[in-house]
Amino acid sequence: MTGKDTRLSVLKRNRIADILSGENVGNRIMVMGWVRTRRDSKGGFSFIEINDGSCLSNLQVIGDDKLKNYDKEVLTLQTGCSLRVVGTLVTSPAKGQSVELHAEEIEVFGWADPTIYPLQKKRHSFEFLRTIAHLRPRTNTFGAVARVRNALALAIHSFFQERGFILIHTPIITGSDCEGAGEMFRVTAFDLDHVPMKNGQADFQKDFFNQPAGLTVSGQLEAEIYALSMGDVYTFGPTFRAENSNTSRHLAEFWMVEPEMAFCDLEGNIDLAEAFLKHLFDHLLKNCEEDLNFFNRFIDSTLLDTLETLTSENYERLTYSEVINILSKAKQKFEFPVQWGCDLQAEHERYLTEKIFNKPVVVTDYPREIKPFYMKVNEDGKTVRAMDVLVPKIGEIIGGSQREDDYDTLLERIKETNLDPAAYWWYLELRKFGTAPHAGFGLGFERLVQFVTGLPNIRDVIPFPRTPGNVGF
Ligand code: ATP
Ligand code: MN
Repeated sequence: MTGKDTRLSVLKRNRIADILSGENVGNRIMVMGWVRTRRDSKGGFSFIEINDGSCLSNLQVIGDDKLKNYDKEVLTLQTGCSLRVVGTLVTSPAKGQSVELHAEEIEVFGWADPTIYPLQKKRHSFEFLRTIAHLRPRTNTFGAVARVRNALALAIHSFFQERGFILIHTPIITGSDCEGAGEMFRVTAFDLDHVPMKNGQADFQKDFFNQPAGLTVSGQLEAEIYALSMGDVYTFGPTFRAENSNTSRHLAEFWMVEPEMAFCDLEGNIDLAEAFLKHLFDHLLKNCEEDLNFFNRFIDSTLLDTLETLTSENYERLTYSEVINILSKAKQKFEFPVQWGCDLQAEHERYLTEKIFNKPVVVTDYPREIKPFYMKVNEDGKTVRAMDVLVPKIGEIIGGSQREDDYDTLLERIKETNLDPAAYWWYLELRKFGTAPHAGFGLGFERLVQFVTGLPNIRDVIPFPRTPGNVGF
């Protein structure tokens, strides 16, 4: 870069992450970012910490009174101002940082009036930061979350791509409710003040799709179509649930990773899930050291130990019936009483993972009554080939199963769960033509991010959380 050539260009801009890894010492470089702090020294110079989001650390810039705008501008820089600095990178004599930038030029793009800029140097509560989602990625925590999400997304794709899985883009708008659970958001083009009616009900024949439609709650059924053509496939996309559960682990819009494999049974499915999680933890430990250290220091001091153990240790596998046995012998009092047939609640899941096994637990073979129609019925007729992966603190992070591949059993299950077989004609046909054992699971991306960051609330691991009553930003 020459002194004159200072066009605003991503190609010319040096990222702080690269600078701090030791490149460019002795060179003239250009950085752009936002001021975190400014401190002035009596000797006629100032220390300015700037961050550009490329990493957690700030770069220390030193500007002195030889800068033409030193008195007028540099001395009034505040947290949140955006700027461009051109200068020479030198090794730093100060403790705790490797390099510092000696500014020859500081150009301010945008000011941030400290009397009204909401992000000041002190720590802010996560609740408060949710109300300023347009500014919270400028904090250490939310910058780190964004980088961890990014690293995990890459690791998810690389895991499947290395194993020959084909990425399938399943639809966002769908005419079928995957689980018949009625927790779908409706998609309509109706003028809601003048909905065409027929026999006292909305006449969806007259709507955009000529039938009811909604936002997808899962890409699984469509992924099965491709698995039964291409073998191993996966989806990674947005998922929507209108369930009105105001919990720390439910969002109305979240991202789900769903592998689906032909010629695979429940054991193969669990093996894949375990290898998958281990790959993700390992990738993070290798690639997000600085951010993980931050979470370990400020959010959850057991985080690094946990992740390291979970890259190697085998996860516990046991059946639902075994779980009920363990829970009914527990000394702990549960809010929801335990008996065979009940669904596992978060308190049960946490007891298993935190008190009994202290590691992820894979629970299989749940009662058919509490699981969706598409899960393969076991020979006992009472249980299905389901698998949930439970982890400490979060509970269920993965839900999956071997799928019912027998036409008659599937039809019976559809009827038994009060779904309309006609709506599932194509799903049924997959069992009529070239059916094969197949299995898959869904990993909630945000639950994963919660787990690896230690953040207690799922609203803080997605950039713009959608929950009941919240759709701002
Ligand atoms: P839960 O019982 O925890 O509500 P679920 O059994 O309804 O979850 P599945 O239908 O099995 O969830 O979905 C697969 C995965 O998607 C879950 O294991 C979880 O990680 C994630 N997930 C499900 N619902 C939500 C949600 N509302 N917000 C965020 N993640 C979710
Ligand atoms: Mn589930």
